[in-house]
This record gives sequence, structure tokens and C-alpha cells, in this order.
Amino acid sequence: MIYLDNNATTKVDDKVLEEMLPYLSNDYANPSSMYDFAKKPAEAVKKARVQVRDFLGAANEKEIYFTSCGSESANMAIKGVLNCNKEKKHIITTKVEHPCVLNTYKELEKRGYEVDYIGVNSTGELDINELKEKLRKDTALVSIMWANNETGVIYPVEEIAEIIKTRSNETMFFVDAVQAAGKIPINVKDTQIDLLGVSGHKFHAPKGVGVLYVKPSTRITPLINGGHQERGMRAGTENVPYIAGLGLAAEIAQNALDYELKEVKRLRDKLEEGILKNVFNARLNTSLHNRVPNTTNIGFEYVEGELILLHLSDLGICASSGSACTSGSLEPSHVLRAMGIPFTALHGSIRFSLSRFTTEKEIDYVIENMPSIMEKLTKISPFQDELEILRRR
Ligand code: PLP
Repeated sequence: MIYLDNNATTKVDDKVLEEMLPYLSNDYANPSSMYDFAKKPAEAVKKARVQVRDFLGAANEKEIYFTSCGSESANMAIKGVLNCNKEKKHIITTKVEHPCVLNTYKELEKRGYEVDYIGVNSTGELDINELKEKLRKDTALVSIMWANNETGVIYPVEEIAEIIKTRSNETMFFVDAVQAAGKIPINVKDTQIDLLGVSGHKFHAPKGVGVLYVKPSTRITPLINGGHQERGMRAGTENVPYIAGLGLAAEIAQNALDYELKEVKRLRDKLEEGILKNVFNARLNTSLHNRVPNTTNIGFEYVEGELILLHLSDLGICASSGSACTSGSLEPSHVLRAMGIPFTALHGSIRFSLSRFTTEKEIDYVIENMPSIMEKLTKISPFQDELEILRRR
């Protein structure tokens, strides 16, 4: 099996699993309990908070809150800050956010918020001038992702934070960093970002655990009310094994960042160049330079993405068309549509996302097999004349 769908989820690192196991067996105490038996789980949560602090470059571990996933972190940030600023009714995001932000904004729109959705260009990059134009005195919140899950394109969130704060200190800025964490350096204390969300299962921790960073003095209400856990900001008995796993995964990802930026990028570039060179109907659907090191998105003109995925799957290769949440429906990706990718490539676009566990042999195998898959699929395409023009190009 060749797993090239690491933006959907990642394999749990063996060392992370080992770190988690004691808290699923012998050390099962509730970390809030008073007896000695609870000390080890309580220590594990404390240690993980420090590991995540260092991973995100936060000034203090008190700025780190554990959640159940990236989607919860986004909901907590967005709804939590708006609850504290009920007079301002204007909010901004982009057209290419993950559904956890877009659908939250859609719900807020129904509740009377006025929303501006910023567009992107044909390589997936944001128009910062559009953002500058849309910022208003009554803008309560801006939410922009650090890296896009489908194209890998990186957004200049540090610069955006400065622009927002120069206009008004009262406008809050949430960054969905789920696809950036572990792929590029993050140092929140050097930025003006107020809130930032990440998700463990995108950097080799298990599914079902996430983080929300909240800058000190940010006014925010909890999403889940109940006990005193997470200093009253997120009720529910701590998921100790998953939090401990996420802590170690964060530390490992931090140490592996150089490898990610050089070696994972080299393999991604090799895969991309190999496909673009050998497959006549392939086109790049993303920015060439400004993106995370593990992701590429390639459009195969005049063929169906689902058919490509099935043929890849027959060879044991896992990739995806659109984000994992939307594949399964035949709706083309909202991200590629926002980029204006031509309809000829929209339905045949495939995302390949690597990880530090991807090998050169795996990449060579995909490069070797892609031309024959495409030969088969183009033969059954109804667009033979158009394909002939591409072949001669
Ligand atoms: N944000 C982005 C950019 C994502 O890619 C994802 C998941 O694919 C999420 C948020 C949601 O994370 P989770 O699955 O942990 O809720």
C-alpha cells in the first residue's frame, strides 16, 4: 500500500502509540483526582501542554487548550470570540477555507452576520488588497487558514495579522493551521495572531484530539460548558492517552521539520515533475513555490477523478480528489472552483500528499504507473478530439 493522502489523515507514529498505551491500560486515573494514582496522567497532560507550546512557539503553556479535533478548535475560536463582541456584526473569511470554518460562517450568516468571502487567483493565492478593502470598523473577526488542505498553498497570515491589527486591535484573527502544523515553522509569539487551531491526526497523532492556541487577554467564551477542565474553557474529562500522544507527535514533528522541508519536498517535487513530464493531459493546479512541502494537486484533463482514484487504488495507491470530506459526492471541489480551474480539469483533479514516512521507491512506482493509467482512461473519454489536441501539444 502506498499512502499519499496525508492531508486527509496520517499514520500514528509507532513512538506516539507507545506513549499513549499506558494511559489506555494501567494509568487510567482521572487527572483531576486527588490521589497519587492520578499523578501520572496529570503529569502527562502537563508535559503535552509544554510540548505543544514549543511546537507552536507560544510564550506560555497556559495559552494552549486541548480540544477533540481541528473542527472543534475552529468552532470554539469563531463562536467564542463573537460571543464576547455582540455589537460588531461583520466577519471575513476566504472562499477556500475548510468546511469547519465555511459552514460555521454560513450558520452565522443565517443568524444575521454580514460575511465577506475573499477570493483567490488561478494558482490559489489570496488577494491581500481585497482583504484590505473589506476590513471595516465593525469587523469582529477574520478567519484565514495558514495552508490550504487541497492545494497546499500557504497564506501570509503573519502579514495579514499585522494588517488587521493596524486597522483595529478589536478585530480578532483566527488562523486554521491544521495543514501547516508540522510542515512549516509556526511561531505564534512573534505574530499578532489571536487564535490558532491544529489537529493531531495531521501530524502522526491519533484522530480525535486537537489544540486551540489563545493569545493572553483574548476575550472568549467556552464552546462546551461543564467542569473546570482546561481552566474552565473546555469542559470534559481530559482524553489523556490522546493528549499525551499529541504532545509527543508535536515534539517529533518539530524535530523532523528540516526533513519535511528538504526531503519530503524533494520527493513531492520528483512526483510532480515525473507526472507532469510523462502524462500528456496533466496540469498543475497549485502555486509552484508558495506551498507546504508535502502537497501537490494535479488536474488530468478530460477524465473523471473517481476513475483515476479507482485505478490508483487497484495498484494500492491512496490519493484523493477534493478534500476527504467532499469526496464521495460528485460536486467538484469548492477550492478548485474558487481558483477558476477549467471544467476540463476540475473533475479529474487529484491531490497527492506525502509524509516523512513516504519513500523514494513509492514515488518511483507512482511515476511509473501513472502514464498507463491515463492511457486507459483517455481511451474511454468522450473528448477524443480535445485529447488529440493535447497529445500533439
Ligand atoms: N482545517 C483544515 C485545513 C483541514 O484540512 C481539516 C481536516 O481535513 C480540518 C480543519 C478539520 O480537522 P479535524 O478533522 O481534526 O476536525
